[in-house]
Amino acid sequence: MIKRFLLTATAAMFAWSAIAPAGLAGDDPVPPVQPSVPLPQTLSPDKFDHPILKRAYEAAGRNRATVAQLPCYCWCSRMGHRSLLDCFASNHGANCDICIKEVLLADQMVKNGKTAAQIRQAVIHKDWEKLQLK
Ligand SMILES: [Zn+2]
Repeated sequence: MIKRFLLTATAAMFAWSAIAPAGLAGDDPVPPVQPSVPLPQTLSPDKFDHPILKRAYEAAGRNRATVAQLPCYCWCSRMGHRSLLDCFASNHGANCDICIKEVLLADQMVKNGKTAAQIRQAVIHKDWEKLQLK
């Protein structure tokens, strides 16, 4: 019975490595993304004085369908967020550098003609870490 369990566990691990995106650094877990239908509305950028916050909330509102496909590396999934989009449906995003960097990266990549799948890969590669907020 134990042997059978081990075999199943090993098979599951192989299955996972087969579907894991190539080129990931180590085996960092990716925060889960769940579909949010209908897409939540984001807060108005007018609610914020700081230019970076305005830009971040504008970016989220402009790219809702894309942002809803992105994992959020502040791990707000643990408090019920379904994707990066949920961070900007409340004040949460205004208090989180990670959420802001991710959404600004996504906005930049959409402007450069990238697909949601490409942006998701960039987020998983943590390209947003290189962004300077100023
Ligand atoms: Zn978040």
